[in-house]
Amino acid sequence: MSGDRNADPRFPRGRHPEQDGRVKIFISSDMEGTAGVVAWEQCRPGQQDYEHYRRLLQDEVNAAIDGANQAGGPHEFLVNDSHGRMANLFPDRLSGEAGYLSGRHKPLYMMQGLDESFDAIFFLSYHGSASAGPATLSHTYNPAAIAEVRLNGRLAGESGINSLVALGLGVPVVLVTGDQTTAAELAPFWPEARAAVVKQSVSRFAAESLHPARATRLIAERAREAVAALRGSGAGPAARIELPATLTVRLRNPDLAEMATWLERVEPDPDDPTVVELVDDDPIRLYRTFVTLILLTRGIAE
Ligand SMILES: [Zn+2]
Repeated sequence: MSGDRNADPRFPRGRHPEQDGRVKIFISSDMEGTAGVVAWEQCRPGQQDYEHYRRLLQDEVNAAIDGANQAGGPHEFLVNDSHGRMANLFPDRLSGEAGYLSGRHKPLYMMQGLDESFDAIFFLSYHGSASAGPATLSHTYNPAAIAEVRLNGRLAGESGINSLVALGLGVPVVLVTGDQTTAAELAPFWPEARAAVVKQSVSRFAAESLHPARATRLIAERAREAVAALRGSGAGPAARIELPATLTVRLRNPDLAEMATWLERVEPDPDDPTVVELVDDDPIRLYRTFVTLILLTRGIAE
């Protein structure tokens, strides 16, 4: 059904970039995918190394903005800070006079701020999913509750799950940055998206990273290519996500799975007490159900 998406009135297309040449880009920024980052302490406010690594993250976000602007800019940007307490960037140091959406409790979480007026989405400093490997600091939303998520049978990390919102609002994901596993996980859902692989994960806690100077150059180049392709093609690429879509979620224990079935449109797997299925023909409602599952199970996750 994804091929019919452009004609489906439920999923209006984004503003056409050819209209005025300006492209409106939504950036969802995480932190675990930044070159050099290999430990939780580096991503947690108050820890010794955090101040250093948040600057490397900021440099990568700015590189993506600067690169995009090299393709017929200046363009328009909104950065949704999506990591931890969601206030990791310095707003006054954002390139491109980007808008900054920060702070905790956002109904659309890592996709808050996206609407049909955007032309493209960047997923920056993303990381591999809970059951993927090798993947530095891999997890899927809540590491204590979620063991694995599949979207229509394919392994899905946060990039795949967040793509449901992109699909619902008709805005294509055109760039992802992070390690090799993160890039591989997005590809089945957005085969035309560019990837800037800034590190090769060795394990959950080790990676061989590009020097930050090279990482930012690579990100800028991939962002420039992604925006140039978007402006050249007239219409953005479509997601390869069939509707109705199914999220198959494996939780860390049967208690968590049972709790998940309290929600509407969440069914237990008769063969596996740790697995539930979420099925919906509305991708945004499906995403919201998943986020509600995350928030609900937080109460008993260890
Ligand atoms: Zn994160």
